[in-house]
Amino acid sequence: MFEGLSDKLSHILNALTRRGALTEEDVNAALREVRRALLEADVALEVVRSFTDKVRARAVGAEVIKSVSPGQQVVKIVHDQLVEMLGAEAEVIDLNAAPPVGILMVGLQGSGKTTTTAKIAKRLTDRDRRKVLLASLDTRRPAAMEQLAVLGRQVGVDTLPIVAGQSAVQIARRAMEAARLGGYDVVMLDTAGRVTVDEGLMMEAAEVKAATNPHEVLLVADALTGQDAVNTARAFDERLGVTGIVLTRMDGDARGGAALSMRAVTGKPIKLVGTGEKVDALEEFHPSRVANRILG
Ligand code: GDP
Repeated sequence: MFEGLSDKLSHILNALTRRGALTEEDVNAALREVRRALLEADVALEVVRSFTDKVRARAVGAEVIKSVSPGQQVVKIVHDQLVEMLGAEAEVIDLNAAPPVGILMVGLQGSGKTTTTAKIAKRLTDRDRRKVLLASLDTRRPAAMEQLAVLGRQVGVDTLPIVAGQSAVQIARRAMEAARLGGYDVVMLDTAGRVTVDEGLMMEAAEVKAATNPHEVLLVADALTGQDAVNTARAFDERLGVTGIVLTRMDGDARGGAALSMRAVTGKPIKLVGTGEKVDALEEFHPSRVANRILG
């Protein structure tokens, strides 16, 4: 059976530590297990390194507290450091701007971007009582435009009528104008999906951003992305200035290492978490819960 990190650290440290403070030797022994747990949870290697350095700095020389075992004590240090790096407070979507507030949705194809767009639209409509307009900018894939229209109907949110032959920037401008005229509070722009970080599509999204000045740029990323999460998040953030991340497929087997990787390299908050295929399977991000999941 899978033994949790907590048990492993207890075995190692309770045998090692006989003194009043955690020594470098104790901590290094523990950190080998921590490193293994983080890699199993799919945290990117460069992030694992910076994480263990921070834990080492906090743990070496720490007085051993009598009421807990040294193993438990290091687990607490690791947990606290994880929560700190994941972002201590759960953040939500910022609508604090003159309406219509633009939200640009970006991410790799298959990450769950279009589904997440509909989920957020539903949340803003039902919970926050905002009038939302959806627009698909995926000019290369008519099926993707149709998918957003279907999802929009399903959640009771308007989608911009499709006009053939328009560029992504033209559609985005038309969406903002329609929202102004129609008294919408929020416009969500669902950019074209791309299989890899594609320069042409990145440029297109950058042009859309320049033309519409969105208040939020949300990166939708699959929690199962693993080691690639770092490169994806860095590329989107460098080109588009991401304001937040939505992590999908947290209902699956993913341990959530991608959350730590993406937060660490971009410094941008995880705002929401997708937990299923249904349009209401969207939750706020709880750093402590994800920390426990990463630790196993
Ligand atoms: P896009 O290509 O990024 O727009 O991805 P889609 O929105 O079309 O989603 C791709 C697939 O992932 C669909 O079958 C969705 O139902 C599914 N999906 C999206 N988000 C989640 C999630 O949080 N959990 C699960 N289990 N499936 C999801």
